[in-house]
Amino acid sequence: MQQTANLAGAHALVTGAGSGIGRAIAEALGAAGAAVSLAGRRIAPLEALATALPRARAITADVTRETDCVAMVAAARSAFGPIDIVVANAGAAESAPIGRMDLAHWQRMIDVNLTGAFCTVRASLGDVTRRPESPADLRRIVFVASTAGLKGYPYVAAYTAAKHGVVGLARALAAELAATGVTVNAVCPGFTETPLLEASIANIAAKTGRDAGEAREALARSNPQGRLITPAEVAATVLWLCGPAARSITGQALSISGGEV
Ligand code: NAD
Repeated sequence: MQQTANLAGAHALVTGAGSGIGRAIAEALGAAGAAVSLAGRRIAPLEALATALPRARAITADVTRETDCVAMVAAARSAFGPIDIVVANAGAAESAPIGRMDLAHWQRMIDVNLTGAFCTVRASLGDVTRRPESPADLRRIVFVASTAGLKGYPYVAAYTAAKHGVVGLARALAAELAATGVTVNAVCPGFTETPLLEASIANIAAKTGRDAGEAREALARSNPQGRLITPAEVAATVLWLCGPAARSITGQALSISGGEV
C-alpha cells in the first residue's frame, strides 16, 4: 500500500479556500498533485491562490445557498471533471452570552457552519459516490469541524451546536457511505492562527479590556501544549485523510489540539 499521498489525477473541492485553514488545505492538496476547485464568497483571494497552484480554479459561492452549491459543483466539474475529494471547510464564529444570543445569531451560525457543510456535500454527492474506475481511485469527504464539535466553550453556544452537528453529519454519512468506499471524517482543530482567530482575539480584547496579546495567550493556554495550532498542521491531517494510507479511517472526529480534547 502506498503511504504518501500522491493525489495526481484527483480533483478536490475546498470551500472557504481563500484564507486560513482552507487556503492551507488547498495548497497541500495542490502540492500533492490534485486539481483543486477553490470555492468561497470573495473572488480576489481565490484567484490569487489559483494562480499560485499548478491546477486550480476559483469559484464564487455562498455555501449557505443550495443553488450556489449546485452551481459551484457544476463549475468545478466543468473545470476538472467529476469531484473525488470534498473538503467542507467554510465557516464563521460569532460569540455572545446566551442571554444576548438572538435568533438571527443562532441562524447565521447554523447556516454557515452546518447547513453550508450539508449543502456542499449534498451537491457533490453524485460525483463522490460514483463507481471508482480503479481501486486506486480515492473518494473522500472531510469536514473542518472544531474542538467545539467535541466539547463545550462559553459564549459560543450556536457555533458549538453547529460544530457538534457537523461531527454528527460526518458520522452518519460515514455509516451510510461505507460500502461505497468513500471515507467521511471530521477534523477538529483547536484555536488556530487564522483571520477568524484574529477576529475572535480582537473581540475578546474589546469586550474584556485585555490587550490583544493577553487574549491570544489565554487562548493558547487552552491548548495543553500551550500554543496555537497552525493551518499547515490541519492541512497535513486532511492530506493524510485524503491519501491511500487512510482508506480504513472513516467516521472519525480527529482532534488537532495538542490534547485539549
Ligand atoms: P477564515 O475566516 O480564514 O476562513 C473561513 C473561510 O470561509 C473564509 O475564507 C470565508 O470567506 C469563508 N466563508 C465564510 N462564510 C462563507 C459562506 N457563507 N460561503 C462560502 N465561504 C464562506 O477562518 P479559518 O479559521 O480558516 O476557518 C476555517 C474553518 O475552520 C471554519 O469552519 C472554522 O469554523 C474552522 N475552525 C477554525 C478554528 C480557528 O481557531 N481558526 C478552530 C477550529 C475550527
